[in-house]
Amino acid sequence: MPDSARPLSDASAYRLRYGAAILLCLVGAFIGVRLPDTDNAFALPRLILHRSLLTHSFLLPLLLYVLIHPITHSRPEGSSVLLSHPHANPCGRLFSLGICASVPVHLCFDLFPRAWRGWALIYAPLLGRLSPSLSVLWLSISLIACLYLACRLLRNGGDLLLAIFCVAACYGFCASREPQSARWSLLILLATVLVAFVLPRPKRNGILIQLPKIADGPADK
Ligand SMILES: [Zn+2]
Repeated sequence: MPDSARPLSDASAYRLRYGAAILLCLVGAFIGVRLPDTDNAFALPRLILHRSLLTHSFLLPLLLYVLIHPITHSRPEGSSVLLSHPHANPCGRLFSLGICASVPVHLCFDLFPRAWRGWALIYAPLLGRLSPSLSVLWLSISLIACLYLACRLLRNGGDLLLAIFCVAACYGFCASREPQSARWSLLILLATVLVAFVLPRPKRNGILIQLPKIADGPADK
């Protein structure tokens, strides 16, 4: 049988999907760094205004994480560790990673408006603008939550490098538009990454959920 007619092995197919997933991750980062400000495009009186609590938050990344992240957990015989499914398609996971890693970069820069009044304050649907301290608190919680989700989506060093690249590219994009906030945003971003990394891993029913390495995926035969 000619090589081209041979079916792809599990490992080759996985690598092909992983390549596509890397592209989706970059697309996710491209969308994610602009995602919070889509409230301008979908403004609805009393519900969605600029700096909406719905878009300037961890809510959309969390929804995406829950909807797209195709993890099915299994518990190996006699083990107290839950493993996410090693054959799960990485496309959804890395797209989510792109979104979860880039939204916080936008939120970091939003922490440094010219003044904490008017449009700079977070808008809660029906309730109106939050106070300056609540706005800062909401943005800070969202920053940590997004980066925590991003950390949970990492499986290996390649994923980590990809996430760092996305964050750095988004930071460069935001810094070029708001150079006056660049230094402080970077400090906040680095501090938040540290916090997100040291937060405990999630458990389900008291059992630690462990993400498998790529090496745990299908092997060449
Ligand atoms: Zn914004």
